[in-house]
Amino acid sequence: MADTTSMPALFIGHGSPMNTLELNPYTIAWRELGAKLPRPRAILAISAHWYIGATAVTSMAKPRVIHDFYGFPPELFAFDYPAPGSPELAEQVADVAKPVWVGSDSDSWGLDHGTWSVLAHLYPEADIPVIQLSIDASKDLSYHFDLGRRLAPLSDDGVLIVASGNVVHNLARMNWAQPGSGFDWAQRFDEAARVAMTSDPASALGLGRHPDFQVAAPTPDHFLPLVYLAGIADAAGQPAESFTEGYAMGSLSMTSYRVG
Ligand code: ZN
Repeated sequence: MADTTSMPALFIGHGSPMNTLELNPYTIAWRELGAKLPRPRAILAISAHWYIGATAVTSMAKPRVIHDFYGFPPELFAFDYPAPGSPELAEQVADVAKPVWVGSDSDSWGLDHGTWSVLAHLYPEADIPVIQLSIDASKDLSYHFDLGRRLAPLSDDGVLIVASGNVVHNLARMNWAQPGSGFDWAQRFDEAARVAMTSDPASALGLGRHPDFQVAAPTPDHFLPLVYLAGIADAAGQPAESFTEGYAMGSLSMTSYRVG
């Protein structure tokens, strides 16, 4: 192992892709955190936006930057995050995940905005190698929790794990008339997640049975990255703490957590 720097693991509520370009209380908190952290040797990003039928990691030396959205300004489509990849870390992830099988993606995906919208602030220089892990849409919460547990040792080996999603994410219910507040059900679910993450992270598995789960996470893609952090926290034997809190458009939670 080349580097034994111990890194925290993060879940970041990424919200709108426009956060890439904006300075607001959330993105300023991400910047301040990035400036404080030791420099990782590499970053493993678990993005809500690579939600497919398998667990895979990007293994190319130069991942392309994917602009996986529509209807945003040209500046956002022009945004570049030319971080190198890390075939070595991709191999290491496949190794620590065993017996879970992790595919090696050398030519299909890259870095999507779930990853670069937050790394743009955490590490604006884009000079740290980044790989992405996909989220297998066919698996239940316990699979993702267990895989998070298996990934946890990477934090003690100089790797920053950044899970990027939103605890509450319901685009169909967004209300532009309430840019900075959350519906009652959004607040209830976000609060239940906070209690789980900050007291007994393994209990986050029970959030799938919460009465507001279906409306808070009508598709679980943005919620599942949190389950990875719950697994990491459980393996580390320490609860998570939140470092940003808030709501956007009624139906998005912007809560972010760190472990370690
Ligand atoms: Zn998203």
